[in-house]
Amino acid sequence: MAPQVERQRIPEPAAQADILREQLEYLIAHAEGNAQCGCSACQRYVRVRSALLEVFAEPPGDNVQEISPHFAKAA
Ligand SMILES: [Zn+2]
Repeated sequence: MAPQVERQRIPEPAAQADILREQLEYLIAHAEGNAQCGCSACQRYVRVRSALLEVFAEPPGDNVQEISPHFAKAA
């Protein structure tokens, strides 16, 4: 029995991915089941969802003017 238990303190990337998936599934299930009850899990779900859907979402109105001021002036 070699004393190499310390290595397991650092989660492996695969384990982290599993944790991420677990958390995501938990949050999705919670949000769907409780219809945004407003608890901490709901708030985490909203943050995670906005981050994950960032590339798909339309840019918010405020950011559009900051990113492209030319269009704002033209309109
Ligand atoms: Zn909730």
